[in-house]
Amino acid sequence: MTPFETPEIQHIDPNCIFCKIVSGELPSRRIYEDDRAVAFLDIAAWHRGHSLVVPKRHATDVITGSGSLIEIAPAVEAVARLLKQRLAADGINLLLSAGNAAGQEVFHTHMHVVPRYADEPGLRLLINPGAAPDGELESVYRQIQAGA
Ligand code: AMP
Ligand code: ZN
Repeated sequence: MTPFETPEIQHIDPNCIFCKIVSGELPSRRIYEDDRAVAFLDIAAWHRGHSLVVPKRHATDVITGSGSLIEIAPAVEAVARLLKQRLAADGINLLLSAGNAAGQEVFHTHMHVVPRYADEPGLRLLINPGAAPDGELESVYRQIQAGA
């Protein structure tokens, strides 16, 4: 192995939906990417523009994943700024769950980046799983892409 090979970055789990999104096998509305992370819109948005940032390599969670939080950190900051600017968000929440008891449902490290708006403020309204109207995801995706 040469010093430039980083096998852990290429590691994928063939049964993991976020690995499939990273590889393009499953579709997503991708809004940002760097060398170690990918960000895409959450299909069940809590608030307009709710996105997920995931490492490109498979890591189960931040407890067992050894370094996955560091891998996604620059992308999380970039996505938070992107969403604030393009969607005129009034604030941003970051949420990361590790383990069943914490509510983790997809076992590939992911940071929720949730734009917040002044008309629905506060932590109590963070998780607001109301069904988004038809076309909402596509409309927010186009708005984020505009000016890219
Ligand atoms: P967690 O409960 O923290 O594991 O969050 C998993 C998140 O992944 C939920 O907010 C889901 O809506 C989201 N999700 C699941 N499948 C997809 C998908 N195919 N594309 C985008 N987001 C997804
Ligand atoms: Zn994975």
